[in-house]
Amino acid sequence: MSTVPELFGSMVFDDKVMRARLSAEVYKSLRDTIRKGKKLDLSVANAVADAMCAWAVENGATHFTHWFQPLTGITAEKHDGFISPAPDSHVLMKFSGKALIQGEPDASSFPSGGLRATFEARGYTAWDPTSYAFIKEKTLCIPTAFCSYGGEALDKKTPLLRSMEALNRQALRILKLFGNENVQRVVTNVGPEQEYFLIDRDLYLKRKDLIYTGRTLFGAKAPKGQELEDHYFGAIKPRVKAFMEELNEELWKLGVYAKTEHNEVAPSQHELAPIFTIANVASDHNQLTMEIMKKVARRHNMVCLLHEKPFAGVNGSGKHNNWSMSTDTGLNLLSPGETPYENAQFLLFLVAVLKAVDEYQGLLRLSVASAGNDHRLGANEAPPAVISVFLGDELSAVLDAIETDSPYAGTEKRRLRLGVDVLPRFNRDTTDRNRTSPFAFTGNKFEFRMVGSSDSISCANIMINAAVAEALRQFADRLEKAEGDFDAELHDLIRETISAHKRIIFNGNGYDDAWIEEATKERGLLNLRTTPDALQMAVDPSNIEMLTRHKIYSEAEVRSRYEISMENYVRTVRIEALTMVDMARKEILPAVIRYTGDLSAALKAKKAAMPELACRYESKLITRLSALIDGIDEATDALQSSIDACGSGSNTEQAFYIRDEVLCRMEKLRSLCDEAETMTAADYWPFPTYGDLLFGV
Ligand code: ADP
Ligand code: MG
Repeated sequence: MSTVPELFGSMVFDDKVMRARLSAEVYKSLRDTIRKGKKLDLSVANAVADAMCAWAVENGATHFTHWFQPLTGITAEKHDGFISPAPDSHVLMKFSGKALIQGEPDASSFPSGGLRATFEARGYTAWDPTSYAFIKEKTLCIPTAFCSYGGEALDKKTPLLRSMEALNRQALRILKLFGNENVQRVVTNVGPEQEYFLIDRDLYLKRKDLIYTGRTLFGAKAPKGQELEDHYFGAIKPRVKAFMEELNEELWKLGVYAKTEHNEVAPSQHELAPIFTIANVASDHNQLTMEIMKKVARRHNMVCLLHEKPFAGVNGSGKHNNWSMSTDTGLNLLSPGETPYENAQFLLFLVAVLKAVDEYQGLLRLSVASAGNDHRLGANEAPPAVISVFLGDELSAVLDAIETDSPYAGTEKRRLRLGVDVLPRFNRDTTDRNRTSPFAFTGNKFEFRMVGSSDSISCANIMINAAVAEALRQFADRLEKAEGDFDAELHDLIRETISAHKRIIFNGNGYDDAWIEEATKERGLLNLRTTPDALQMAVDPSNIEMLTRHKIYSEAEVRSRYEISMENYVRTVRIEALTMVDMARKEILPAVIRYTGDLSAALKAKKAAMPELACRYESKLITRLSALIDGIDEATDALQSSIDACGSGSNTEQAFYIRDEVLCRMEKLRSLCDEAETMTAADYWPFPTYGDLLFGV
């Protein structure tokens, strides 16, 4: 067996491989492309492609693919063989620079939200050389962006790269004002913590709801859930441990920094956290992680559920998106510094994030909106739908002192003059980890906790980058014009920003109903409870203005994504509703009828044998179950007719209709069926119960 350092990145065409296999000249040229975003010319691409092909073939690859992230939320790949005919019925393994730089998948079946007419079905894919190529299942995968021929982005990578560029541009303007002459690039770093459930595959296969929708649509609460809190960080079961070991190895081979693994709060729930890396690579790696989790689980006869809310009544799964900005000189811009100037710079970036989150709450909420996540936000151990920022008491007190020009009541009492004073040392808030905040400052990064477990992290990071870039742009515009006393202008800017945006700071319990009340009524923060509401933010003129100003999306691209997301919401809930109808009619009703029939026969026999017996229990059960059978039948009809009535209006109309009419009928049907489950003998029940699923591994 190889050691981890030998294994790590062994399937990646990374810097080490490039240096070893490319001529010095080609290597330098490729590095320039990677570092400075310079265009790659064809002769360099040809040399890189040759080396890549040779390396891939040596490592067992037979095919290559442009690996991209269409708007379906998963990754797409079309494999092409390296083989090319050679004389004497031989074949050569070949790969050209042209094929490396650009591919042309027939993309007519990918969602485009109206961006691409079917007659111009072709889109093209273009290599993102900042994300290394890798070999997965004998295929050389080239991470790429996916665009239409008109140049509109049809994927999630392109806008992410654009948002990173926008943030880089604005942050550099600020850094220049602070005299950081040698900084050439600012990047955004992301470490996404991935939560998931593992359940037994034999049990899974008996549940149509899990198969079709990834979550349970029925299921009475099991006698035991997560109330003993005995799962979180508990000893890992051997079967799960074996899965994690294999998963780590697979991920390490692909250069994914899988680092931390532990049991989560709900039974059968686990988490994997990688070490953070540059945002576009983190996003690629997270997609790979999700894909490989599913594959490895299968090999252990388990199923990995990535749905945000696979089980009602226990925690759902999310993805904590740890986000920060750093320079190519190694400075974390969200790290408090040692000198007065570094501190002022840190505070400026910090308040830029506050301003960004406050002004673009809607976009952040939108970036995590999905039918699945609607069940999670505001439920067990998940942040509410209201966005606020947790700074911790000490840092909040520092901002407060600056805003009110009053002495900071920390260790030493004194007034704070930015650019003159060293910031008082404040500790990373370790006492209160505040798991309830949607956007928490955790020492040198922000943790955005609303992202759903099955979602791509791209959208969330696009919106964070965009909003912060806009705040920095406004700051830079003002500070660049400052005549004379830069420090005074800076001080005023920070103070005014705190005043204007402190409503977004909340250090209390985000799960508390009183907070939602205060947030919406007193502070005027948005509370977008459902996906259709949240998606409206995409077509808000000021949001579109900001996103287009920074060239992150064109207006057409925003509108297309709006349509796709609405449509996706409608389709997802429709599939769930139809699955419920199917299960109720074909599995639940027949089971309950059979049980009631057997009970009635038993009752009849008993009465015949011993007429004097009251048979109270049997009578009670038969009466209630008969009523439930009728109720389930009625609720199923009602659900079916609401699906039929959903109609052919616009995506938006259908989405609101679904939210208002279909979801509540699903809820109604579920509660009747769950009651029937609690009254039906176990061997009659047609599929595994919550207890079976949650404790079945
Ligand atoms: P915490 O306990 O505060 O959540 P961890 O050290 O467990 O922090 O890290 C959680 C995730 O945050 C990991 O993926 C980690 O790599 C990532 N992370 C740490 N520092 C940064 C940073 N500066 N920028 C982005 N992500 C980071
Ligand atoms: Mg964390």
